[in-house]
Amino acid sequence: MDNVVVGRFAPTPSGRMHAGNVFAALMAWLSVRSAGGRMVLRIEDLDPRGHRPEATRLLMDDLCWLGLDWDEGPYRQSERSEVYAEAIARLDELGLLYPCFCTRAELHAASAPHASDGTPIYAGTCRGLSTAEVTRRSAVRPPATRLRVPDEDDPAGTVSFVDLAYGPHTQVLARECGDFLVRRSDGVIAYQLAVVVDDALMGVNQVVRGNDLLGSTARQIYLQRLLGYEQPSYGHVPLLVAPDGRRLSKRDRDLDLGQIRAREPGPEVLLGRLAAAVGLVEKGESVSADDLVERFSWETIVEHLAEDIVFAS
Ligand code: GLU
Repeated sequence: MDNVVVGRFAPTPSGRMHAGNVFAALMAWLSVRSAGGRMVLRIEDLDPRGHRPEATRLLMDDLCWLGLDWDEGPYRQSERSEVYAEAIARLDELGLLYPCFCTRAELHAASAPHASDGTPIYAGTCRGLSTAEVTRRSAVRPPATRLRVPDEDDPAGTVSFVDLAYGPHTQVLARECGDFLVRRSDGVIAYQLAVVVDDALMGVNQVVRGNDLLGSTARQIYLQRLLGYEQPSYGHVPLLVAPDGRRLSKRDRDLDLGQIRAREPGPEVLLGRLAAAVGLVEKGESVSADDLVERFSWETIVEHLAEDIVFAS
């Protein structure tokens, strides 16, 4: 049973699924099912601000309507704080964590260098604070917790991996992201840490998701190495964009599943359009998720690979 592919859906229940979420979920599911693997469902509801409880129920109902099933879960990140605390304690034992008091405004200052995806590269401002300084500042506002990355010339801080779709990628953490958060100042566990701990403890060995997370992968691999976890394989897939080039979001109501399900008797037209965008079927075909299992291959995806997929209702 050792080489069974284990993949996952890892949705954030912040609103109704839209066509872009469906595309990423479909690719993750097909990649697993075409390999005879297992699928885990994990609800990424760590951030109480973005989380709408009814969204989780709708999300599972939408996956069922689409014909995308899972074998294990749903796990809820909001119920897993002990496992994250334990991982943070292990990183702390390695001497790699420090409190950070920088505000959002300071981090996003125009003068700060930014990574290619627009996130600011942390300048290391709070790296060397004395214990007295930490005590003094903690009395004013609770700190976030940051993980130190190796210096630029230390090979441990250069992470390379081969993406199933986008091929070889290398990131020098010090230059392209800097020390990164594992826990926010309000106590919420950072996405990067939670996802790594969960994927490892749930036995996930294949991560398929939107290419907006391609830039996070190096940080996740670095965390896996520190925590002694196996590295899953990664396959990123294009994002869906509106005809004007804007990325589809929860605001595009006509492409959310509430609207689509009100218009369409079943998922076949939507699935056909999504599958045609990556060459799995001819344009205009209607298909079920099951029909696509034997047509799926990463070679086809790679042949038809684009940065993003233009999609209109
Ligand atoms: N929860 C993330 C999202 O909905 C996905 C995280 C992941 O796939 O690693 O965008």
